[in-house]
Amino acid sequence: ESLKIAFIGLGVMGGGMAANLARKGFALTVFSRTPAKAAPVIALGATLAGSAAAAAREADVVFLCLPATEDVAAVLFGDGGIAAVMAPGSVVVDTSTIDPVATREFAARLSAGGIAMLDCPVSGGQKGAADGTLSCMVGGPADVLERVRPCLDAIATTVVHIGDAGAGQVAKACNQVCVAANMLGAAEAVALALRMGVDPKRVREALLGGAARSTVLERHTLRLIERDFTPGFRARLMEKDLRIAVEAMTRTGVYAPVSAGIHQLLNALLQTGRADADWGAVGALIQELSGV
Ligand code: NAD
Repeated sequence: ESLKIAFIGLGVMGGGMAANLARKGFALTVFSRTPAKAAPVIALGATLAGSAAAAAREADVVFLCLPATEDVAAVLFGDGGIAAVMAPGSVVVDTSTIDPVATREFAARLSAGGIAMLDCPVSGGQKGAADGTLSCMVGGPADVLERVRPCLDAIATTVVHIGDAGAGQVAKACNQVCVAANMLGAAEAVALALRMGVDPKRVREALLGGAARSTVLERHTLRLIERDFTPGFRARLMEKDLRIAVEAMTRTGVYAPVSAGIHQLLNALLQTGRADADWGAVGALIQELSGV
């Protein structure tokens, strides 16, 4: 018997994931605060619910893809929250990137009501969500992961069980630290090429063939050279992710000058009014500060 799925949050990432679940033939009910965002997935056969609770009530598995920790808290436990209506034995799969410590609390609170939770943050960007080629970093009980694995196989090519509740979010914080360091390296490299009068496209081409190769260098350096900062991944979301990582590092005594510095730069980027631009605009900020 196939799983009944609900999906809440049809933004840049959720829209692509929900579409792939619909394409794989899962019975899918969606909720979006902006109903227009649901149109593509409705066209693929999904049903539109009038509220998050209405979407979640009948579901075996409820996916969330929401911006931040407080949004997940609100949808789970706030006014009209889904925890109050979900059936015992059902599962929440949270694909949002949120705080690992809060995630542990959410999982414990749901578990008291007989509802299981997996933290399942993803990497791969809008393209990975649209193509169904994400990497899922899963925290929570292994048997729950096995139950929902057919759903995850519809959205991802890599699914790794990292550990207990919150462990997936720890892996995602690690991911964002690596991606952010790559981005700032690429941004400073482009600024250097431009200041030295060298064509950054040719530099990029050469670097992609060598040890500097990375997804960031491939996708974002081109966007930076072409000044295309449509999200993608909003600057405000990357600021949130570095804040989560730096808070965890501070709590645990990890020496992290790179993450702390990049977090400050992202805050500076938000101050310049670019919170909803793609976070690759941090490269434009580096150029502005470099007189390029
Ligand atoms: P987005 O802003 O495009 O989408 C978020 C959606 O959640 C919006 O449609 C918004 O209306 C909806 N939403 C917010 N609060 C809600 C509520 N209370 N009820 C119902 N819907 C609500 O953001 P996104 O880029 O899709 O990112 C979502 C999550 O995935 C974030 O945690 C982000 O950090 C993470 N993520 C993003 C990317 C990326 O490349 N964009 C990659 C990996 C992970």
